[in-house]
Amino acid sequence: MTCKICGRKSKSEFCERHTEAYKSLLKMYDEWKKAMDISWRDYLKEIKENPYAGKWAKEVAAYLLSSEMKDSPR
Ligand SMILES: [Zn+2]
Repeated sequence: MTCKICGRKSKSEFCERHTEAYKSLLKMYDEWKKAMDISWRDYLKEIKENPYAGKWAKEVAAYLLSSEMKDSPR
């Protein structure tokens, strides 16, 4: 398999670095939710536009946002 974001070889959907970034995004979202009422989508947008967010986290956020848009509503 290759990473859906960067195309590097990986054992799962994302490569190690993007998996790590994804995990920290999830963890951080939990923190954010405690402090404010924010949806997952809005959170991803914040990350994408945050100049202090890491490159990897931004790529994951951008990927999740675009893949969500492509998905038909279930
Ligand atoms: Zn990757």
